[in-house]
Amino acid sequence: MMHISTLFSKLGLDFAAQAGDDLQVRSPRDGAAIASLQTHTVQEAETAIQNAHQAFEKWRSVPAPVRGELVRLLGEVLRENREQLGTLVTLESGKILSEGIGEVQEMIDICDFAVGLSRQLYGLTIASERAGHRMMESWHPLGVVGVISAFNFPVAVWCWNSALALVCGNAVVWKPSEKTPITALAVQALFEQAAARFSEQRPDLLPKHLSQVLIGRADLGETLARSPKVALLSATGSVRMGRKVATVVAERLGRSLLELGGNNGMIIAPSADLSLALRAITFSAVGTAGQRCTSLRRLFVHSSIYDEVVSSIERVYASVKVGDPLNADTLVGPLVDQHAFDAMQSALAQAKAEGGTVTGGERVSVNGDSNAFYVRPALVRMPQQSAIVHHETFAPILYVLRYDQFDDAIRLNNAVPQGLSSAIFTNDVREAEAFMAATGSDCGLANVNIGTSGAEIGGAFGGEKDTGGGRESGSDAWKNYMRRATNTINYSRTLPLAQGVKFDI
Ligand code: NAD
Repeated sequence: MMHISTLFSKLGLDFAAQAGDDLQVRSPRDGAAIASLQTHTVQEAETAIQNAHQAFEKWRSVPAPVRGELVRLLGEVLRENREQLGTLVTLESGKILSEGIGEVQEMIDICDFAVGLSRQLYGLTIASERAGHRMMESWHPLGVVGVISAFNFPVAVWCWNSALALVCGNAVVWKPSEKTPITALAVQALFEQAAARFSEQRPDLLPKHLSQVLIGRADLGETLARSPKVALLSATGSVRMGRKVATVVAERLGRSLLELGGNNGMIIAPSADLSLALRAITFSAVGTAGQRCTSLRRLFVHSSIYDEVVSSIERVYASVKVGDPLNADTLVGPLVDQHAFDAMQSALAQAKAEGGTVTGGERVSVNGDSNAFYVRPALVRMPQQSAIVHHETFAPILYVLRYDQFDDAIRLNNAVPQGLSSAIFTNDVREAEAFMAATGSDCGLANVNIGTSGAEIGGAFGGEKDTGGGRESGSDAWKNYMRRATNTINYSRTLPLAQGVKFDI
C-alpha cells in the first residue's frame, strides 16, 4: 500500500487548515490514528449556509445543461482518482478495497446519470378544462440542500445527492459522519478541481461556496436541520438520528429526505436455485461486514430445504476470509469501531436468551492489532421472530427462521418496523409476482433472485416505514431537489372561471 501521506497528496488533499485536536480519526483496519482535525463551530456552519444561499441565487440562473457540464467534469476528476479515493474509503471506513473502489464507481455512475438529466428536467403539459387555456408544470431550483451522511457510505451518499442537486440548480452543504471526515475533505478537494476546470472554460459563471463541507458531530447536523435557509435536508443514518432531524425540520415546515436504517429479509422458496441463493445470501449478509443499510439480516427458509440451506451457509461462513480490507482475497473487513463490536456481542447474547442458536460471531485477531475489531460473521437459528430480530444491529448477524406457508413468509418479512430492502429466491412465477404485488413485500426495494444489497443508481433508492420514505438516486428522485410550479396560461379573449363559476362584474 502506498504511504498515507502520498495518498493524500495524490488526491490534492492538504488539511493543514483543518488540523486540530477536536476529532481524532482512526482507521478501523488497525485502529491507528490517520489524522487529527479541528471541527467547525455552529457559527461557522451558519455562515456556510448563508454563503451557500448566495451561491444558489447565482447558480439557479445558469442553464441546466451548463450546470450539467460541472457535474460532467466532476465525473472526469473522479475517474482519474478512482483507485486513490477508493483506497482512502477503505482506510477510513474499513470496507474491502473492491467495495471502496466500487463506491467511487457509484459516484461516477450518478454523475453520468445527472449529466443526461441536466437536459431532461421535464414538466408536463396538462389539458385545461377552459377553452383558449393551457396548463403546464415548471420545475425550478429549490435552494440550499443540506446533506447529512453515515460512515458506511462515506462518499457515494454525498454524490447521489449532490450530482442531482447541482444539475437541479442548488447549492450543497455537507455534514459527513464524524467517523469519516477525511474522505469528505478529499471529495471536496476533487470537487474544487472540477470547479477550476469549469471556470477555465466558462469564467464568471461558477459561484463560490456551491459545495461546502462541515467537519463535526451531531450539533452541526442539527444546525442544518434548524436553518430555514436549508430548503431540503437529506439525511442518511440511523432511525434514531432521522427521528430527531425530521422533527426539527417539520417544526419549521421544511422538506426532508430520509434514508434511514433497514432490517432486510430474504425468502428462500422450495423452487429456488440454491447455488445462486447461497452467493446472494453471503454477499448480502457478510459484505461490508454487515454494515450496509441493505445488509441481509433475516432469512426465511422453507422447511423442506431448511437443513440443506443452513448447513451450506454454515460451511461458507466457516471459510469466508476475514482480514485486512486492503488484501485482495479478503471478503470481510473490520467493524467500524469497538462500539459496533460491543453492540454485536450484546445482540448475540440477547438472541441466545430469546432461544437462538449462534454459530460464529467471535472476534478474530488480524495482524495482532488490539484496536481493530474483526469478527467472524454470525449465523443465528431463531425459533421465532423475537424482539432482537426486529432490531437493526449494524454488524454481520444473520437470523434464520423456517416457514411452511408462503403467506407466513410475507407476513414475517413485513413484521418489522423498517422497510428498506427485501428479496425472494424462487422459480415459481406466482410467488415472484405475489412478492412484488401490493399485498407482497412492503419495502422500497423488492428483488427477485438477487440479494438485498448492491442497488444500481438507475432506480429510485430508499424505503418505507422507519426507513423514512425518502428516494434518492435514479428514476424521478431528482424531483426532490426542485420545486414545482403549475402555470395556467389564458390565450383567449375571455376570462372563464374554473368549475363553471359565474362572477360577472
Ligand atoms: P448515525 O445515525 O449514527 O450517524 C449518521 C449521521 O448523522 C452522522 O453524520 C452523524 O453525525 C449525524 N447525526 C447523528 N445524530 C444527529 C442529530 N441528532 N442531528 C443531526 N445529525 C445527527 O449513523 P451511522 O452509524 O453513521 O450509520 C449507520 C446507520 O445508517 C444505519 O442505521 C444504516 O442502516 C443507516 N444507513 C442508511 C442508508 C440508507 O440509504 N437508507 C445508507 C447508509 C446508512
